[in-house]
Amino acid sequence: MNHFDIVVVGLGAVGSAALYQLSGTGKKVLGIDRFDPPHTMGSSHGETRITRLAVGEGAEYVGLAKRSHQIWKDLESKTGNQIYFPFGGILMDSGIQPWGKHGAEGFFDRTATYAKEFDVRHELLDPAQMNGRYSHFELPESGKAYFEYEAGFLKPELAIETQLTLAKKNGAEILTNSPVLDIQKISGGGVKVILEGKEINADKVLLSAGGWVKDFLGEKEKPEFKICRQVLHWVETSSDDWKDYPVFMWGFGPEPEDFIYGFPSLDGMTVKMATESFVETFHPRELNREVSLEEQTRFWEEKVQGKISGLKSNILKSTVCFYTVTEDAKFVIRPISGMEEVLMVSACSGHGFKHSAALGELLKDRLIRE
Ligand SMILES: Cc1cc2nc3c(=O)[nH]c(=O)nc-3n(C[C@H](O)[C@H](O)[C@H](O)COP(=O)(O)OP(=O)(O)OC[C@H]3O[C@@H](n4cnc5c(N)ncnc54)[C@H](O)[C@@H]3O)c2cc1C
Repeated sequence: MNHFDIVVVGLGAVGSAALYQLSGTGKKVLGIDRFDPPHTMGSSHGETRITRLAVGEGAEYVGLAKRSHQIWKDLESKTGNQIYFPFGGILMDSGIQPWGKHGAEGFFDRTATYAKEFDVRHELLDPAQMNGRYSHFELPESGKAYFEYEAGFLKPELAIETQLTLAKKNGAEILTNSPVLDIQKISGGGVKVILEGKEINADKVLLSAGGWVKDFLGEKEKPEFKICRQVLHWVETSSDDWKDYPVFMWGFGPEPEDFIYGFPSLDGMTVKMATESFVETFHPRELNREVSLEEQTRFWEEKVQGKISGLKSNILKSTVCFYTVTEDAKFVIRPISGMEEVLMVSACSGHGFKHSAALGELLKDRLIRE
């Protein structure tokens, strides 16, 4: 009864995708989460996530993004749930100082290069063209912009819920509100997954525990993963046309924090926007989940004011989320030290949601094959 071929520990973006993919293979699979996903404690909440195909982070990710779009569409046709909204996407560069993103220098030029190389439908726009089309962005004369037609946003909570529902329909078992306390090797083969008052045996484990991955790593491996608090803000609009805007990303200076991204208005009253922050917190349990008025004011003054119009300086809501970041911002997929049966997948350094559907498929293939 308590033996499974594969146990997935952590059912966020990556774990829910992997469980869904594994559930179609005939293997006996179990997914476990410490909360009840989709929830607001990890890295996969907050209404929307940007998706784009010519990903400046690296040519190796373009295939994953393309495959994920196919899977999102397939999930939509299976369930009627719309997960992917192809509103288009703009990447802007103020053209004042060089900047990088997610470990990739020259992010703007890389994006344009990959778009050509991988046949991604796009346009390059100068500031005058931008002003004609998207007048809320006050791009300086030195600036440049890239528009991608198939970019847009995903609904993260719905994506997770849809994949978990389908996984269950396919026969996967799911345990929620059940933190895994430890994973131990069994001498005859396989591993023991230890929960409060319960032990489960498995041939293999996929460890997709997001920032909590550190709980399962040795002292040497822990520092590889940095927990970085992020704040999402919903800024009040003063113009009606925000609901027709594409998603946007804008690099305006050399520091990683000299950056803002945002979404079309979903409610007609607010635009969700954020910057990125790389201040480290040791563990998710130590995160400050409150957002102060001072933080909101600083966000408005430093990131929005003078750059984006059609907004009031009124932030109606803010929420905290976190990245789990590696030094080079690449994804980490490898067995944990001393346990070949436990495949770890990292929480993808702040750019993983768009890839998660295809990542689930890739992890399934690897777990089934090896
Ligand atoms: C603010 C923000 C904005 C982002 N924007 C984008 C974007 O626009 N585009 C994009 O592509 N990516 C974006 N990302 C990145 C993307 O959202 C993440 O890479 C992705 O969601 C990570 O998913 P995950 O499944 O690895 O982690 P999580 O979603 O955190 O999932 C980990 C799960 O493991 C569970 N868990 C942990 N420990 C245990 C345990 N011991 N036992 C059982 N369960 C456990 C947790 O409860 C959780 O459900 C953003 C991230 C943030 C935070």
